[in-house]
Amino acid sequence: MKESFTNALLEWNQNGNTRAMPWKGEKDPYRIWLSEIILQQTRVEQGWAYYEKFILNYPTVQSLAAAPEEAVFRLWQGLGYYARCKNMLAAARQIVTQYHGHFPNTYDTIQSLKGIGPYTAAAIASFAFNLPHAVLDGNVFRVLSRYFDIDTPIDSTAGKKQFAELAQELLPHGQSAAYNQSIMDFGAVICKPQQPSCTTCPLSSGCKALKLGLAGLLPVKTKKLVIKKRYFHYLVLRYKKLIYIRKRTENDIWQNLHEFILIETPEPVDTASLQASAGFREIFGDIRYNIDGTSADFKQQLTHQTIHSRFILMTAAQKPEIQGYMAIPEQDMDNYAFPKTITDFLKKGKLSLF
Ligand code: SF4
Repeated sequence: MKESFTNALLEWNQNGNTRAMPWKGEKDPYRIWLSEIILQQTRVEQGWAYYEKFILNYPTVQSLAAAPEEAVFRLWQGLGYYARCKNMLAAARQIVTQYHGHFPNTYDTIQSLKGIGPYTAAAIASFAFNLPHAVLDGNVFRVLSRYFDIDTPIDSTAGKKQFAELAQELLPHGQSAAYNQSIMDFGAVICKPQQPSCTTCPLSSGCKALKLGLAGLLPVKTKKLVIKKRYFHYLVLRYKKLIYIRKRTENDIWQNLHEFILIETPEPVDTASLQASAGFREIFGDIRYNIDGTSADFKQQLTHQTIHSRFILMTAAQKPEIQGYMAIPEQDMDNYAFPKTITDFLKKGKLSLF
């Protein structure tokens, strides 16, 4: 059963797989790594343009390692999960200092790089060096759980071990790159999360889930995703042509990105209640200001959080000192990287309300 699974998959890859991606067949470990980091938690359609931008701006690991952090963050802007970008830059610098600019070529050394886990290490090791390491991502979990009818939860320790062992057993000798690519593509275009193409599936004759009518119930997960709601009130304060921003340094979302003066509340509140709050009074004290307008709700969905942001446009009567924030010329805003919510707000030209 295992052998026929692998053979059918490779056969499909050879004759039926039309999934196009700019990095497909790529052998350069730097480019493979870049694509894998960009694609973590990002759809291929969105990641594609970013991948091309990065390759254009930083064609080698040396050029990426030498780039100023702010420039790399700006290029990353809109992709989210900025820890990935920070780790990517750290890993590029690690490759230059520890490995003289040569991308490491063993699974363990690849995995020792910042931000690289078992999945990415297996992808690079197999695609670039054809090393025998099976990838295990959401697509692989889904395909294997359905084809072999395995209901061990994929987010349990036992499940991870079971699937990792099976994935490794299925890997054909000397064909790691082709096999890994096939199973990921197969999960993305045929054995999809919703409405898998079972009727035309080239693996249907051996698929246990299809036989038992269980495809819709697999894979199994133990934990339900809990999504937290957060309410951000951005005070877009301007004095003449200066605007107040800061860099987010806390261990939280959007680390290293910039933002306007922020007050967060656990529930939605209106502007009057916000003005009366201790947080607002602590920031503004006896600073005289005018409120020029309030935006609608800007919603950004992250994996575990929904961020609701409102922008309150304000002008100060005298130049204020706001602790933790800097006043920058408005025309310099382009030099800073902001989270998507703020760039969406800026793109809509909302600052022109001033
Ligand atoms: S028959 Fe359906 S469930 Fe089974 S591998 Fe094919 S697409 Fe997936």
